Amino acid sequence: MTVALVGAGPGDPGLLTRRGAELLETAEVVVYDRLVAAELLELAPDGAELVDVGKGPGQSGRQADINELLVAYGRSGRRVVRLKGGDPFVFGRGGEEAEALRRAGVDVEIVPGVTSAFAAPAAAGIPVTHRTVSTSVTVVTGHAGDPTLPGVDWDVLGRLEGTLVVLMGMGARSVIAERLMAAGRRPDTPVAVVRWGTTDRQEVARTTLDRLAEVGLEAPATIVVGAVAALDVTAVVATEV
Ligand code: SAH
Repeated sequence: MTVALVGAGPGDPGLLTRRGAELLETAEVVVYDRLVAAELLELAPDGAELVDVGKGPGQSGRQADINELLVAYGRSGRRVVRLKGGDPFVFGRGGEEAEALRRAGVDVEIVPGVTSAFAAPAAAGIPVTHRTVSTSVTVVTGHAGDPTLPGVDWDVLGRLEGTLVVLMGMGARSVIAERLMAAGRRPDTPVAVVRWGTTDRQEVARTTLDRLAEVGLEAPATIVVGAVAALDVTAVVATEV
């Protein structure tokens, strides 16, 4: 009785790990999320049961049901893959699913994935650290969220100089910018927003912190704040003659 929690990567199906592909190719049940690429589901054998538990914004209350479903499939003894966007343990509630399975006596295999926190900036040519520009990167959720959960200390983040990556932050982007500037981040700090990073629907907006609220991109998007957000290291460099 094992359920594999597999990271699907950020969107481009080529970014799935080899272990993830191997498990999908032999799966009897695949339980997947909204952001998972359709091409990855095609790796499952014909006849595999594909179960969509995609959560829309505000539907996170269903996590308990997902946990129960995974436990039931796990106990059935079938080969079960729980396919989750990006890395299963980065804001994906994979940790909760693993705990629920272990509590029920079901074994868990964790297959990490390429997280959008780093891959979406990279797809826009932004290295989240860069030796002469930024020596740290902090990843936070921008979700306004549940008051019973530990909050994000925007005052501390506003005093940090490194790179800040915000997932699930577009809904609260104006508040986030205000809080960071109030805590000391300069209004002209470079900001990039990458939507559907690594996919053929990718969109990138470049701006500054004081103008983040004006960026019109919707979820799923990753916000990068800091000097690296002004870079595009993949751009063609003009050579002097
Ligand atoms: N476990 C996932 C993150 C889940 S939270 C991971 O490791 O990537 C979902 C958030 O991730 C989205 O709201 C968005 O902020 C970000 N995200 C997911 N896919 C993305 C993509 N292709 N491009 C940009 N951001 C993405």
